[in-house]
Amino acid sequence: MTREIGHFVGGKTQAGTSGRFGDVFDPNTGDVQAKVSLAARSEVEAAIANAAEAQVEWAAQNPQKRARVMFKFLDLVTQEKESLAELLSSEHGKTLPDSHGDIQRGLEVVEFACGIPHLLKGEYSEGVGPGIDMYSLRQPLGVVAGITPFNFPAMIPMWKFAPAIACGNAFILKPSERDPSVPMRLAELMIEAGLPEGVLNVVNGDKEAVDTLLTDPRVQAIGFVGSSAIAEYIYATGAAHGKRVHCFGGAKNHMIVMPDADMTQAADALIGAGYGSAGERCMAVSVAVPVGQQAADALMEKLIPKVEALKIGPSSDREADYGPVVTQQALDRIRGYVDLGIKEGADLVVDGRDFVMQGYENGFFMGGCLFDNVTSDMRIYKEEIFGPVLSVVRAKDYDEGLRLANEHEYGNGVAIYTRDGDAARDFAARVQIGMVGVNVPIPVPLAYYSFGGWKRSGFGDLNQHGPDSVKFYTKTKTVTSRWPSGIKDGAEFVIPTMR
Ligand code: NAD
Repeated sequence: MTREIGHFVGGKTQAGTSGRFGDVFDPNTGDVQAKVSLAARSEVEAAIANAAEAQVEWAAQNPQKRARVMFKFLDLVTQEKESLAELLSSEHGKTLPDSHGDIQRGLEVVEFACGIPHLLKGEYSEGVGPGIDMYSLRQPLGVVAGITPFNFPAMIPMWKFAPAIACGNAFILKPSERDPSVPMRLAELMIEAGLPEGVLNVVNGDKEAVDTLLTDPRVQAIGFVGSSAIAEYIYATGAAHGKRVHCFGGAKNHMIVMPDADMTQAADALIGAGYGSAGERCMAVSVAVPVGQQAADALMEKLIPKVEALKIGPSSDREADYGPVVTQQALDRIRGYVDLGIKEGADLVVDGRDFVMQGYENGFFMGGCLFDNVTSDMRIYKEEIFGPVLSVVRAKDYDEGLRLANEHEYGNGVAIYTRDGDAARDFAARVQIGMVGVNVPIPVPLAYYSFGGWKRSGFGDLNQHGPDSVKFYTKTKTVTSRWPSGIKDGAEFVIPTMR
């Protein structure tokens, strides 16, 4: 019988009651390995009620105690990393070493959240007036929710729930229905680490679950990561229901290759950042922009054999460069974009559409594809493909390369490869993109900086993890206090001013 994945509410795994299910595939074989329950409105409401009740006592715990749960959770996840990575790879399709990275980059935000006693310190001003002191507090919001994508099923849930819970909130996670098992296990481990039941709940589901979270007045804030169309919908709907919302969307990350760059380094960076995890990363480089004819020809000469030599394998193969994509639907969409690129007039110089993985003929595997002479009016340039496909757009000079990145509707990440400090500095200053790499192809900020894109890659004011996460998951209260010795007799009728 097919395994059923339910929800995690009130510290326990619960079977779904909606009667609706989604398929969870093994992308290596193409088989359905489990059915995930898709929550009905009433199931999400029950989780919200549970969280609201648990949050009051959790917020009353001192921050050191909340930090200790995070320390213990770090330990438990670290001990279980190998089996978590295997579970992750079996539903997502990324290679085991890459799954270890997914877990590790999430744990780094848990490490950041361990510093919560320090991070929550407010401000204090003594003697702002006669006998008057003023101070500010950061207090939790209450019940908050996170809606996360399939491509980082460990990292992104941890980016969301670790700072939120450390700040004293209760959290409802709605992970991707494609790979829900790792988020479910992480929630169990949080309870084992000492988190009171009900403070972290996982509801699996689709639009019905998400819409419940967006409209229920008990949910105070929503953090979303996924595609831009859904990000925009979540941002607008959540805000219309009075919630604090930040949403992180899709991407089309460019790498500008200047003529003075080390072409071998640049080509290696493009291979890793373009094809790692089968291109299913929001920080994947999907557009290479060599500057000048000579640089373009030199880069293509290096790139073509490297794309042809990519080692594709099942996710259990530790030597593979990348594994299968997540679903047949994703595979069809990516192949469709490659067909479209040919019709649009781009030159497909490496064609991986018909790649078949020996022994895994029904798996969702695709070979690496490389397009040359892509232009900015083509859909394969404008739209996110989210697969192992790299487009090369030849720019005549640096200004054209910069303009391409700036005029693109997405603004998540970007990189420049150069040995010219002036060019790198100018680029970092003028490029209209949220995360910039100088000779670094995937410039994902570390946990103690904040992560977020610009333009249609990010909606909302505050970014994820780092200092912004503490601001996002708390509200500020400012207290002005005066003791009787500072109070004069008589009523004051004018607005108080401090002269
Ligand atoms: P997705 O938008 O399909 O799904 C994301 C989440 O939204 C899932 O939990 C899903 O169940 C939910 N959802 C889907 N359709 C919905 C609807 N109509 N109404 C309400 N909720 C809905 O994204 P995905 O395919 O899981 O992930 C890939 C996308 O995520 C890519 O576009 C990628 O660039 C983006 N991404 C962005 C970042 C970032 O930080 N900017 C990070 C990772 C992934």
